Amino acid sequence: MEIRFEKREQLLEKPDQKALGFGKYFTDYMFVMDYDAGQGWHDARIVPHAAISMMPAGVVLHYAQETFEGLKAYRRADGKIQLFRPEMNARRMMKSNDRLCMPQFPEDMFVEAVKALVNVEKDWVPSEPDTSLYIRPFMFATEVSLGVHMANSYCFMIILSPVGAYYEEGLNPVKIMVEDQYVRAVKGGTGFAKCGGNYAGSIIGQVQAEKEGCAQVLWLDGTERKYVEEVGSMNIMFKIDGEIYTAPIEGTVLPGVTRDSIIHILKDWGYKVNETRLSIDDLMQAGRDGRLEEVFGTGTAAVISPVGALRYRGEEITVNDFKIGDLTQKLYDCLTGIQWGKIEDKYGWTTMVD
Ligand SMILES: *Cc1c(COP(=O)(O)O)cnc(C)c1O
Repeated sequence: MEIRFEKREQLLEKPDQKALGFGKYFTDYMFVMDYDAGQGWHDARIVPHAAISMMPAGVVLHYAQETFEGLKAYRRADGKIQLFRPEMNARRMMKSNDRLCMPQFPEDMFVEAVKALVNVEKDWVPSEPDTSLYIRPFMFATEVSLGVHMANSYCFMIILSPVGAYYEEGLNPVKIMVEDQYVRAVKGGTGFAKCGGNYAGSIIGQVQAEKEGCAQVLWLDGTERKYVEEVGSMNIMFKIDGEIYTAPIEGTVLPGVTRDSIIHILKDWGYKVNETRLSIDDLMQAGRDGRLEEVFGTGTAAVISPVGALRYRGEEITVNDFKIGDLTQKLYDCLTGIQWGKIEDKYGWTTMVD
């Protein structure tokens, strides 16, 4: 793929690496490529990060034909920069695009575009502990039309943001609210696709959770509101009587790259991982009986997020005395060790950017 480069006259000042937060700062450049029916993908370019213009009748603004991805570039101690399983993100985006009737962005082009942009922006990959360069590829319909149909023109972009730890408080347990009124996904819907529309409909749960003093919302299945599925932007795992439970990938839960990696590691360590439906009643009962040993969320942004308490219908259950569990900590150390190149990557999950 040929990528045109448009130089920026004045480079931006880099933010303090100790106060990056999440998704607040953006780098000098972005990747852009256009799609038109009949012509396919064309005009790949790396250009200064700037506002984009779009007609008010652009399809995405009305009918939300949009998909996105999220991955990170990590700076190793030797200064080199690596990515974590970028091909998984490329393949997932293809599945999301299929569901939203959007054109495919081929896997090799996806990985090439990510590497090319990160290479240009190497200086933006931070080196402070727990920092990384968050990579946000996304695609949206640009056709100008108010008719509901599969659009015939699209834009694929990648923007970059240097980030610190997702939670400012660090790796501390959070309280999670179980949502029993609204639902996020149903079978046959778009729950497995990484698309903006899923989030638009789920912000209400997040708002409610915050009102109740919780950091995140835990969604139940959309049909019976009985089985636990996932948290706002993370998959979730439970350790009960020494075994791990997490919702199966059956069309409603987002197939997380972190989820998949953690399952691999857990099985490697000899744990029994049950990818089966777990009812909220059984979960709460395990909590009351003291059999619920650990709970943690998994996702690229926060990596592993320990859960210290669950709130459901006014009842609150504390997990592991609101402390990080031993296994949660061990998984965090292992996965972040591989991602930052501090321990050997025996699974072959990392790729250098150059
Ligand atoms: C992105 C995302 C996840 C986590 O996926 P990772 O690939 O591990 O980052 C989980 N749930 C939802 C709803 C998501 O959008």
